[in-house]
Amino acid sequence: MARDPLAWLDDELTVLDTEHLRRRLITRAGRQTATIIIDGHELINFGANDYLGLAADPRLEKAAAQAARDEGWGAGASPLVTGHSAAHAELERALAELEGTEAALVFNSGFAANCGTVAALVGAGDGIYADAKNHASLIDGCRLSRAEIHVYRHGDVEYLTELLQQSSRYRRRLIVTDSLFSMDGDLAPLVQLAQLAERHQAMLMVDEAHATGVFGAHGRGGAEHLGVEDAIHIRMGTLSKALGSAGGFVAGRRNLIDWLVNRARSYVFSTAFPPAVAAAATAALKIVRDEPQRRRELLDRAAMVRKKLSEQGWNVGRSASQIIPIYIGQPERTMQLAQTLRDQGLLIPGIRPPSVPPSESLLRISLSSAHTPAMLDKLLAALANCWVAARPV
Ligand SMILES: *Cc1c(COP(=O)(O)O)cnc(C)c1O
Repeated sequence: MARDPLAWLDDELTVLDTEHLRRRLITRAGRQTATIIIDGHELINFGANDYLGLAADPRLEKAAAQAARDEGWGAGASPLVTGHSAAHAELERALAELEGTEAALVFNSGFAANCGTVAALVGAGDGIYADAKNHASLIDGCRLSRAEIHVYRHGDVEYLTELLQQSSRYRRRLIVTDSLFSMDGDLAPLVQLAQLAERHQAMLMVDEAHATGVFGAHGRGGAEHLGVEDAIHIRMGTLSKALGSAGGFVAGRRNLIDWLVNRARSYVFSTAFPPAVAAAATAALKIVRDEPQRRRELLDRAAMVRKKLSEQGWNVGRSASQIIPIYIGQPERTMQLAQTLRDQGLLIPGIRPPSVPPSESLLRISLSSAHTPAMLDKLLAALANCWVAARPV
């Protein structure tokens, strides 16, 4: 009998099951807010990247509804053909204004922005220097580019210095890093990276996906927070996290943006997102500009939660942000703890391979300015209980 060519799928899924690595979709009912309804249960939501509580903000809805009435729903084509609407242009102008750059360009997602941008900047004969914990979309962009990839240990500036000393053979050099790492919640050593980039005439690209709207006096992200904005040649961010909308962006010099319009394949060969999505993101940028207390409060609370968790005995690593990992280790144990917390009304995702290395599974607490003090108290109380239950005797 002919073998089913897809039979391997069941075998592989079974392997995932036995290794406690199988993932399943969860479907939320209703809105993305500080609480979330899953399977009919209301949970306090520590899983979203909606850091400023804007995903269900009525001002975004209103802006989107208005744009949908004015411009219709679909974008119709890629931006270079007919897809670039007035709402997209307005968003790009607002992004360049926030970032203080000559120009900005929006992509359909942060993932698309990273893949398309890295592959447009370097190619065969070039060298990439990438942090070991960079986001998957940067890694894929590096692979797509066909440049030679040098991965440096997470945050290890000395190692990167050594690598760069042998980089003169390349036509171009690109240093690329997350600014705020999505699982560990720590900041990249951007000051040192900026110095190295200058010394070696390398391009420096920073992915601010988790830091846009959260870090920096104007909410521009980690580079602003660390005072090195002007040294970052390619500033990437997403509209889908703190900005509560969807899409990714790159901000920088005019010639950079003009090049991406011509050469970033994920931009050129993909239909623009709907104008209403752009209008919602523009409304979010206005809130980021006018309500700085949201990000200040969020980071103050995050510092408090990190401190209390450490006092309880949990290992929160080097987190310096609203992303607070609790390192557990084994995937199975991590998922058990996540379930225990869920039974107490808290959604805290367990993170396991392939998102993190095998022995570094963790609970990822993601704070939002929408959480109330009572919600944070509940979080801390539940984790204190887990610690008592988990402590070795
Ligand atoms: C989420 C994320 C992206 C992708 O952004 P999307 O808009 O969700 O596609 C890129 N980089 C980092 C570091 C991220 O965490």
